[in-house]
Amino acid sequence: MSLPTASSVPGASQATASGAKTDLEFDRQHIWHPYSSMTSPGNIWPVQSASGVYLRLEDGRELIDGMASWWCAVHGYNHPRLNAAATEQLQHMSHVMFGGMTHAPAVELAKRLVALTPAGLDKVFIADSGSVSVEVAIKMAIQYQHARGKPQKNRLLALERGYHGDTLGAMSLCDPTRGMHHLFSGILPQQFFVAAPQTGFDEDWNDQDSEPLRQILSQHHQDIAALILEPIVQGAGGMRFYHPQYLRQARALCDEFDVLLIADEIATGFGRSGRLFACEHAAISPDILCVGKAITGGYMTLAATLASTQVAETISQGEAGCFMHGPTFMGNPLACRVACESIDLLLENNWQTQVQRIEQGLLQGLAPARQLDSVADVRVLGAIGVIEMKQPVDMTRLQPACVERGIWIRPFGTLVYVMPPFIMTDDELATLTAAMVAAIAVSG
Ligand SMILES: *Cc1c(COP(=O)(O)O)cnc(C)c1O
Repeated sequence: MSLPTASSVPGASQATASGAKTDLEFDRQHIWHPYSSMTSPGNIWPVQSASGVYLRLEDGRELIDGMASWWCAVHGYNHPRLNAAATEQLQHMSHVMFGGMTHAPAVELAKRLVALTPAGLDKVFIADSGSVSVEVAIKMAIQYQHARGKPQKNRLLALERGYHGDTLGAMSLCDPTRGMHHLFSGILPQQFFVAAPQTGFDEDWNDQDSEPLRQILSQHHQDIAALILEPIVQGAGGMRFYHPQYLRQARALCDEFDVLLIADEIATGFGRSGRLFACEHAAISPDILCVGKAITGGYMTLAATLASTQVAETISQGEAGCFMHGPTFMGNPLACRVACESIDLLLENNWQTQVQRIEQGLLQGLAPARQLDSVADVRVLGAIGVIEMKQPVDMTRLQPACVERGIWIRPFGTLVYVMPPFIMTDDELATLTAAMVAAIAVSG
C-alpha cells in the first residue's frame, strides 16, 4: 500500500505486538460505517486497490465485485479513460466556486444530461450527492407551488417501500416503517404515503393497482406539491420491479390532480434497468428528475436535479426570485469532467448490449437458487439480480462465506442482490452468481 496507513500517521499508534492498535482496530473503535454500530461493529474487510471488476484486499485476495460500489462503478475500477479525465482536469482546476462563475466541465455535463434524459427536462441543478439532489427536488416542488399562489400544496406524496436518501427531507420520503420515522418524529416533515405498486414488471397489469394512488390524490391534492417515486425499480426499500403501466398512471394522475411528478433515478439512471433512464420503460417524462450514483462511473460524489422549463421559470418568477439552494461544492469541475467522460464511455461501449448480456447471465446464473427451500423469489431486470430469501440473512455468516468464495456482495434483510459493473465478462458473471447461490445454500 503506497498511501500512509493510520499507523504511519504521526501520533497514531504503531501496529505492534505490544498491544498498540492495528488499522482495523482503530477503524472499529473510531470510524462509523454506513448504518453501523460503534459497540458491535460488523465485519470489515480492508481493501487495498480495485481494478476492472476486482477488489483487491490487503491480504492479497481478489474479489469479483457484484455491487459496483452501490450501483456506481458501471465501467469497473481504475478505468484508464476516467483516470485520464480526472488527471487532465486536475491540471486545469480541481474546484472553483459556482456562484458567479461557470466552466466547461459543468456546461458539457449539463449538455449531456439535457440531451439524454427524458424530454422536457431542460434545466439542470448540479448537486453534490443523491440525497442533496432529492432535497433540491423537494424544495423545487415547494417553491413552484408557492410561486403559483398555492402555498398550501407543501407536502409530498411517496410510495411505501421507497428509498430516497438519508438527509432529513429525503428520509421523510423513505418507507416510514423501515426508515424508523418514529425516532425522528417531531422534526421529520410529515408526508403522505401510498401503498407500493403490487403488479410485477412482467405480470399482467391490474388496473386496481393504481387505485390507492388515485384515492389519496383525489383526497389530498390540495396539500400535495409533488409525488416522488423511484421509477420501475424500488431499490434499497426492497429491490422490487413494478409494472410500467403504474408509472404511466402515476404520470396521468399527477396531471389530473395538478401535482408535480419527481422521478428519483439515482439508482436506475444510466442504463442499469435496461433503459438509459427507467422512465423510458413507460415513455413518460417527470417534471423533476434526480440522478446520481453512476453519474461519475463511481469515481466521486456528484448528482443532479433536472427540471422542466415550466417548473424552473415559475420558481424564478416567485417571491424569492431565485431557487434557494447553492452548496459550496456545487458544480465541482473535477467531478463534472469525470461524469462527462463516464457518460461518453457509456455511449461508446454500447451500454444496451452490455446490460442485455448481463441480464441474460444473471437470469441463467441465479436460476438454480429457485431450487433452494430458503429462497422466496429470484428476479432480474437489466443489470440487477435479486434473490429474495424467506428469512432475513445472517450477515455474520453470509458475507464471510461470499468472501471465501471470491465475491463481494452486501445483502440486507431478506435480499441477496447484485448490480455488477457493465464490463463484467460472462465468465466472471458465472463465477459471481454460482458463488452467491453456493453461499446462500450453506449459510442463507
Ligand atoms: C442512493 C440513493 C439515494 C441517495 O443518494 P446518496 O448519494 O447516497 O445521498 C437516493 N435515492 C435513491 C433511489 C438511491 O438509490
